[in-house]
Amino acid sequence: MVLFLVDYHTHPFSHGEECIKKQYSKEYIERFIQKAIKTGIKEIGFADHDEFIDYIDWDILKELKEKYKIVKLGIEFDFKNDKKHLNMIKKAVDFLPLDYSIGSVHYIDDWAFDHPKYIEKYKNRIIDDIYIEYFKLLKNAVELDIFQIVGHFDLIKIFGFKPDNISIMDLAKPVLQTIKENGMVIEVNTNGLNKPVNELYPEINIIKMANQFNIPITLGSDAHTPDRVGEGIKMAVRIIRDIGYKEIAIFNNKNIILKKI
Ligand SMILES: [Zn+2]
Ligand SMILES: [Zn+2]
Repeated sequence: MVLFLVDYHTHPFSHGEECIKKQYSKEYIERFIQKAIKTGIKEIGFADHDEFIDYIDWDILKELKEKYKIVKLGIEFDFKNDKKHLNMIKKAVDFLPLDYSIGSVHYIDDWAFDHPKYIEKYKNRIIDDIYIEYFKLLKNAVELDIFQIVGHFDLIKIFGFKPDNISIMDLAKPVLQTIKENGMVIEVNTNGLNKPVNELYPEINIIKMANQFNIPITLGSDAHTPDRVGEGIKMAVRIIRDIGYKEIAIFNNKNIILKKI
């Protein structure tokens, strides 16, 4: 049986490292597509961070989308409680040629909690409090109702710090409820398997709860280099099928389409 595999979360521009900036070109982005084709990925989505919005070459992306039908265009928006930034996001979702956008939380206040450089902060704070704050921000992001996909739902676990006295499921539930109300989708992001936590984002129990809520799922590797495109995607599809998912969400001009898996 042929599985319908998609990778909707890739970053050709990465984090704007000097070496990437130099090689960011049509040929370089094409290497992501070639890897997708080789891996049997039916749709590859480019979703660079909004932080680099001025560097993303939409002309090249549109050209590649014409050339390769498997290409989808997206962006990963960083949710912050910052009015100016929110206005930028609202304008960008209307203005850009997007098939979808991913809304993600990478910051608590100005703390980039997923960056190994700032890991010490987990040791100076109560983990329960950090989780409460993270899920509150995630809920705020979902309530905006301007994204199609919620990125790496439980990213806060990245370094393996887990809460002591509160249940992650209790924190996840109201967010999933709001996702369902707003007709949004969550991604299963395989990159958590490369991090100290060594789990998918989100963890299996959250995927199960999402299934109970009837929330559709899409898939992403969070590849920052061509070689990682499609990594873990086949396994992720098998896992969500085992949980009970029979379809996967893909997007066309911000409209959701459910594909049999
Ligand atoms: Zn992210
Ligand atoms: Zn990402």
